[in-house]
Amino acid sequence: MAKNIYKVSSCDYCGTENQIVRPTPFMADVPAMMCKICWDNTKEEYMNSNGEWIPKFEDGPGYEEMKSIEIINTVPSSMNPNYRMHMLAKYECLDCENSFILSKKQADEANEITCPYCRTDKIEEVALMVDSDRLEEMGCMGIHHMEEGESNE
Ligand SMILES: [Zn+2]
Ligand SMILES: [Zn+2]
Repeated sequence: MAKNIYKVSSCDYCGTENQIVRPTPFMADVPAMMCKICWDNTKEEYMNSNGEWIPKFEDGPGYEEMKSIEIINTVPSSMNPNYRMHMLAKYECLDCENSFILSKKQADEANEITCPYCRTDKIEEVALMVDSDRLEEMGCMGIHHMEEGESNE
């Protein structure tokens, strides 16, 4: 299975924070990460200097997954001031390629994070997100009312 090359982070080129970035197409800049806006702006520059078009920003492995994570990540907690969103860190095992999730608190408190599947410590943090299940429990009332209204018609 292809590795997810994206992560939610700040762009090393424009500095915009908390968005989907992917590794730079410029070999000289590795391991810099680049956002979609910079990626699109880079296409012509890259063509001019390298003689080929870089692929679409979205074409790398793992983009769909990251997109759903980004949506979760950007839900405004101001919708419900009493609700504290849980930050979750998603990790990927470099040995067995399974991914797993820890709360940010757990992750920060752990001295060493190991893979729950194969117990290696070759772990890479691939994303930060909020606890979406709890969010649905607490924040979906309005959505349910709308759905009931529609089905009654
Ligand atoms: Zn950027
Ligand atoms: Zn593993």
